Amino acid sequence: MLIKSAEFVMSNSDVAKCPKNRLPEYAFIGRSNVGKSSLINMLTNKKSLAKTSGRPGKTQLINHFLINNNWHLVDLPGYGYARVSKNAKKTFQKFITQYFSLREQLVSAFVLVDIRHEPQTIDLEFMTWLGENGIPFSIIFTKADKLKPKAIENHVNDYKNVLLQTWEAMPNYFVTSSTNHLGKEAVLDYIDNLNSNMELHSI
Ligand code: GDP
Repeated sequence: MLIKSAEFVMSNSDVAKCPKNRLPEYAFIGRSNVGKSSLINMLTNKKSLAKTSGRPGKTQLINHFLINNNWHLVDLPGYGYARVSKNAKKTFQKFITQYFSLREQLVSAFVLVDIRHEPQTIDLEFMTWLGENGIPFSIIFTKADKLKPKAIENHVNDYKNVLLQTWEAMPNYFVTSSTNHLGKEAVLDYIDNLNSNMELHSI
């Protein structure tokens, strides 16, 4: 998919205030500092559509971006940031769970994980929650440029092995790098295909 336009639409913390139209949307979420803003900017060919935050955990909002005038990319707050107070964490969890539970336009989520790290409990728990709630998602491994090809393969396999302890199959996944644009076409084509399928179904 060629990105012809990418515009900021709105930020809010209330799912009821999200755009009312029926455009398909895709939500990006992960731990703070996982490389989410960089990935969104890489996918949309923009330098700073998503704010790469100097202080992770600061942007605790649901951010909607309109892509090619026909789908929404949603930048959700990074989770699991230690410096956020317990209260802030609770509020955060509430509006994120509300977003996922209530947002009918959501086609699929992308859960970002840093390819260098071992599977983290918070990510695994979040994926389990998505699965239990019937919310489709793919995993996006980020920062692949930091590893050699063999190490990438090993890390993905390790992740698979951990997931297969609780999942019947490995969820769909992408290996990406915002630095060298690895995985860009794969993610965009995946979204494009889902969008085309949705159009077919709505005819
Ligand atoms: P966010 O908090 O998840 O939005 O993460 P950012 O996009 O702000 O990135 C966090 C840090 O990781 C920054 O220092 C980025 O420059 C760096 N980073 C993000 N993506 C990549 C990547 O693909 N490769 C490398 N080498 N560094 C990255």
